[in-house]
Amino acid sequence: MRAISLILFFLIVFATIPSIADEKPPLIVSIVIDPLLRDRFATPEEFETHILDIINRASLIFHAEVGRRLVPRVIEVGLPPNTGFSINDKSAFAWLAEKLERHPSRFWVFLIDRPLASCDIPGIWSGCAMMNESYSIVAYNSDIGYTVQNLLHELGHNCGADHSEFEDSIMYFIGRNAVSYGDKTGIIRDTCGQ
Ligand SMILES: [Zn+2]
Repeated sequence: MRAISLILFFLIVFATIPSIADEKPPLIVSIVIDPLLRDRFATPEEFETHILDIINRASLIFHAEVGRRLVPRVIEVGLPPNTGFSINDKSAFAWLAEKLERHPSRFWVFLIDRPLASCDIPGIWSGCAMMNESYSIVAYNSDIGYTVQNLLHELGHNCGADHSEFEDSIMYFIGRNAVSYGDKTGIIRDTCGQ
């Protein structure tokens, strides 16, 4: 009798775990990194571990919300030509779009460690993305939760979401350490979850 109830228990447990075949392929995030960010770290290993940590944290949230994991691809350290103290999104976007042509990928992220001084509207921004396009600029924050949120916010724009009016959404126009896309989850899942 005990054996039967154990078997039943395992059947029930396994029936409730989504099968591996249901897992959607991951979304590749190609990343270009500002040399100033790399220079914060004493060794290449520390630097790489930190970048992977950012993507892994973002991936956990993205997977829970959208059903797909994020995996980093080519990690390139570089800057658009003539970049000075701050980044102008127009020249950086053109630079990223050209990279995207050569290395097609759902997301191309430029992770910067200097002011982002234009997102069409002058000001200092934590990120810029082209709606429904594949590239974005994300400002690094030494508070890693904000970097993760900035990244997820810009990917949300790439996946067709505009700003949410709710403060607890990642798509609120100011970072609030949110862990859900909230009312914007549906559109992001429709665009990037398939
Ligand atoms: Zn935004």
